Amino acid sequence: MSQPMSQKKNQPEIIRNFIGGKWLPADGGKTFPSYNPATGEVVGHAPVSTVRDVEKAVEAAHAAFPAWRQTPAPKRGEILFKAAEILVTRKEELARLLTQEMGKVLAEARGDIQEAIDMAYYMAAEGRRSFGQTVPSELANKFMMTVRSPLGVAACITPWNFPVAIPSWKVFPALILGNTVVLKPASDTPVVAAKFVEILVEAGVPAGVLNFLTGPGGALGKTLCTHPKVALVSFTGSTDVGKGINAMCAPSLKRISMEMGGKNAILVMADADLDLAVDGIVWSAFGTSGQRCTAASRIIVERGIYPALTSKLLARTRKLRLGNGLDPKTEVGPVINRSQLQKIHEYVQIGQKEDRAKLLCGGQIEAKGPLAKGCFYQPTLFGDVRPEMRIAQEEIFGPVTALIPVRDFDEAIRVANGTRYGLSMSIFSKDVNKAFRAMRDLESGLVYVNAGTIGAEVQVPFGGMKETGNGHRDAGQSSLDTFSEWKSLFVDFSGRLQRAQID
Ligand code: NAP
Repeated sequence: MSQPMSQKKNQPEIIRNFIGGKWLPADGGKTFPSYNPATGEVVGHAPVSTVRDVEKAVEAAHAAFPAWRQTPAPKRGEILFKAAEILVTRKEELARLLTQEMGKVLAEARGDIQEAIDMAYYMAAEGRRSFGQTVPSELANKFMMTVRSPLGVAACITPWNFPVAIPSWKVFPALILGNTVVLKPASDTPVVAAKFVEILVEAGVPAGVLNFLTGPGGALGKTLCTHPKVALVSFTGSTDVGKGINAMCAPSLKRISMEMGGKNAILVMADADLDLAVDGIVWSAFGTSGQRCTAASRIIVERGIYPALTSKLLARTRKLRLGNGLDPKTEVGPVINRSQLQKIHEYVQIGQKEDRAKLLCGGQIEAKGPLAKGCFYQPTLFGDVRPEMRIAQEEIFGPVTALIPVRDFDEAIRVANGTRYGLSMSIFSKDVNKAFRAMRDLESGLVYVNAGTIGAEVQVPFGGMKETGNGHRDAGQSSLDTFSEWKSLFVDFSGRLQRAQID
């Protein structure tokens, strides 16, 4: 087999596509650079794939499907188990590369890889589970059961903010259930995604079962979403791109699973432990430089404690250290690229122009010393934000959060639910009644009590309501539903024709 990457000493890596069991350049041979957002250095070069490459990848996946679906599921599980073990041994190397390519601080990059390890073990075990049901029949001498059946070729389109974890949420459940895969990672993080594929190949995934190609989402995405041999599209990314994917898949009735944007909120009630709430807010708003789909970009606070919470939060936010994620002293890394940096700054300017919002700290591109070469934005707090303002409604995807004062619990819930998104929300309160009402009434796929908005685990469903998702979920048992069809099987051993609902 040809090699996945080539690299001269101290030179950026040159990665390839992986199609039908071979590492290949793009049709036409063009490549694009992937940059380190902390330094501006080139991390690697990846193929600019063409429609022809997508077609080859889909054909390879389609051809590999019959044998893979008939491979015993425990055998498929052994391959995923092996992948988990390789991920464990290569965790540090992958985490460092992830920080270099995506920017998040090293501890969080290790968490990204750990999530893939957790998902690999979890889904490997499904090789010996993937339970169906046996259900009593209304007729004598008749047996009924349900089994899961794979769909065929799954196209997985993933974002850059969790460049290893999110592919793992899609590829592992797809493979364990007997689907074959074409993975298209984000163009900002192709190199670390190629390493993830390399590990699965080393673990023994047969030729054609997992295919990988890099290049422009628009052109490649269109071919994947309209290709008659693609049975399902699993997408994580922005709501705008997701809506386009939805429209492209509709004519062929492809299954689509979509996890999209968020405008997540933390509710702080007057009886909350304020120091704990501040810990949760800082972690949720500024962890991963606010570039998590679950990042808290609205902090909804009861008026009585608004001044105290604001001053504690301000003191903490001002001390956050920006820097290269490989530096152990860094608390907030860069944002992904220059266009995202500009977008964040534009939102901050919009916020300043909007009626009554106060810029409490941050609000500038950080360009001191070595940081000038990277894409750094100061952790930014807005105070006195009103719920209808754009900075309280639209996803900024950067280290910016808005404090919104409210009268009481009921208003807090109303404000929290007043956006088009519904991914993650949390409430800080010592009142068990408020906690349970929040769990019931918040329109959100994830709800945390006395914790921030981030902290998902692979064994529970992950995803959101309203314009965050379309009802499917990644992770947990529910991701098995995304990647399989239920088949109901009936066996009549009465020896005569029995008619349900009639006899
Ligand atoms: P994005 O711009 O929507 O891109 C996501 C993926 O879609 C990339 O691989 C991209 O390729 C591809 N793509 C772009 N245009 C396409 C098209 N027309 N057709 C098909 N595919 C296309 O999102 P992003 O900037 O990478 O990620 C940030 C967004 O993801 C945020 O909105 C965040 O909230 C969301 N997110 C959601 C979750 C969740 O679980 N709800 C988790 C993580 C992130 P290129 O990179 O080549 O453009």
